[in-house]
Parts: sequence; structure tokens; C-alpha cells
Amino acid sequence: MSIKEAQCIYCLEKKPATEFNTEHVIQHSMTAGIQDNLTLIERVCADCNSYFDKHLDRALAKDTIHGLDRLREKIKPISKLREFTGRNVDMQTASDHADLDGAPVNIINRNGELTYALKPHLVIEIKGDRQPVRLFREDLLNDLTGFDLSHVSGRVKFWAETEEEERELWDLAQNVFTKLGHPLQPAGTYIPGTIPVFAEVEFGIREFRTFAKVAFNYMARVTEHIPGFALLQYFDDARQFIRHGTMPQFGIVQPIGNVGRYGILGQEEYPLGHFADARLHRNGVVWQVSGRVTLFNRFGWLVMLCPDYRGLHYPIDRMHHWNFQTMRCEPFAGGPPSMRNN
Ligand SMILES: [Zn+2]
Repeated sequence: MSIKEAQCIYCLEKKPATEFNTEHVIQHSMTAGIQDNLTLIERVCADCNSYFDKHLDRALAKDTIHGLDRLREKIKPISKLREFTGRNVDMQTASDHADLDGAPVNIINRNGELTYALKPHLVIEIKGDRQPVRLFREDLLNDLTGFDLSHVSGRVKFWAETEEEERELWDLAQNVFTKLGHPLQPAGTYIPGTIPVFAEVEFGIREFRTFAKVAFNYMARVTEHIPGFALLQYFDDARQFIRHGTMPQFGIVQPIGNVGRYGILGQEEYPLGHFADARLHRNGVVWQVSGRVTLFNRFGWLVMLCPDYRGLHYPIDRMHHWNFQTMRCEPFAGGPPSMRNN
């Protein structure tokens, strides 16, 4: 009796098929509830799968803007908001007015709706042209250790969601400032909810490895009819990057368009959901295999899976859309405009 064996597309080890489990092309936490979801069966071993879960997938779901997206798109119930740490997302108010610019904002669950809430604090006017000082409850509780108050004018404005918050801050502030010999003079309260908010997001190598994994998974999935394609040595650099974080000699993950304060793919203009594609294409004299990935139609990434492909030329030009309107994963022709001509 022979034991059925399979080879892992990440560690390349041959193991009994029973030591493999299902790998979702896009991690399950971003695609739960989607029908015809693309998966890889007997292609990723349980060791690699569990490594990815612990070291890449969870972080993407908890620390990044995509963790927030999955709550907003109801892939995850809003009641689970507490699991979102937002470590790589900095939410702030945006305004030309110095007082109103850059005030930190939290995401909260208000009666089942995701919304922004100001982190309560006070803004103290500084004499001259200098930036106002923001003081939070923690600062007041620490008696303003580390703050230079020599230019304080005494005029103070509050950022608070409720009157209780404001009163608590006021009592605390008055106490501390009186002790320090700087009596305060209330100068108003900012009304929450009227100031635009932006999210500054940061992606690091861990997130890039996750995006590269989606591209590689997708390529492996759509080339399943070409036996051994994903196992070719041409993809060893991509494999090493995804599995071990080893940086290849070439830029493996590049943003498509601008990556900054806002998503490059506005959700109003393009269909909602995730996109992934895979291509074998010529770039000048060399052939390349690459994929493009966008999660929640927000940021787009070009993943260079092989910058100098010298193997057989299989026709690979596939794209899928994880469509949140129909809740299906379906082949997609054309692609969002910014992904089309790249
Ligand atoms: Zn493996």
C-alpha cells in the first residue's frame, strides 16, 4: 500500500497528503462568507500554513487598515472590534486650522455602527506662532511631567464626545494647572463629527509578505492544470521571501499608484472586494511572472514572482474578484482601471 504524497509549494518538502491542510488564496479572515472562495488543497503543508497564520495572517487582520475593512464590510462582526489593535493605522483629524489638525481619533462601535470618536483631550493655546499643545488624560494624571508650559496662554479648548468627558477633563486640568500656577480659561469645545478624518497607514515587510503570499497562492491556484508549475525554481526567491522574510535582489512588492493617506482605489468608483491576478508577460527582452493584489479595493500591489522567467511559456492571464456585492469569488475580465494597463 502506498501513501499519497504531496509537495508543499512553500517549503518544497514532500510529505504524506494527510499533513496538508486547506490554504485560502486570500486568508479566511478576509474572505469568510464568500462563495466559491479560492483555496489550495494539498499544496501548502500544515507547518507552513500554521506559520502563516501565526506570523502573517493574524497581523494583517488585527493591526492594519484591512482589519478595519473586514469589520466595515461585515466579514467580521462589529462586536469583534476589540480584536482590532490598529497598530499600523494612525487615525487623525484633517484641517488647515492648527487646532483642528492632527487630533487623534479612535474607532468605536456605537450601537452596532463603526464610527470615529475623538480621543478626549484639551488643546492649550501657546503664545506666539507656535503649535498648540495637546494634553490627554494621562498627561494630566502625570502632572504634565515633561511639558514645557512657559508659553501657555491659559486659553484651553476641549475635544470630548460627551459633556461628562469634558467635565472630567476640565476638573482634572484645572486642578493640575492651578497647582502649577497657570490658571486656565475655557475657550470652547470642538464639536465632534464635523471634522474630516484621515487614516495614515503603514505597511512593513510582514504585510508585503502577506500580499506576496496572496499573489503566489493565486498563481499556484490558477496554474493547477500545469503540474509542478508553482514548484519551479524560478519562484524560489518569492518562496523564500514569503516563508522566511528573505529579501530578494529585486523589488518584489511594489505599490500600484500612490500609497499614502488614502486608498488608491476609491470604493465608489470600482467594484467592492478583493482582486488578484497572475500574468506571464514580456517586459522588454525578459519574461516575467507577476501578480497584482488589492484587498478591499483599497491599495494595489504589484508582486514580482519571477523577474527573469526562462521556462516554458504557458498562457497565464487570469483575474478573480472576491465580490462583496454578490458574495462570490468570480473570474473577472478587465479589472479595475488602475490595474489594467500596468
Ligand atoms: Zn510547507
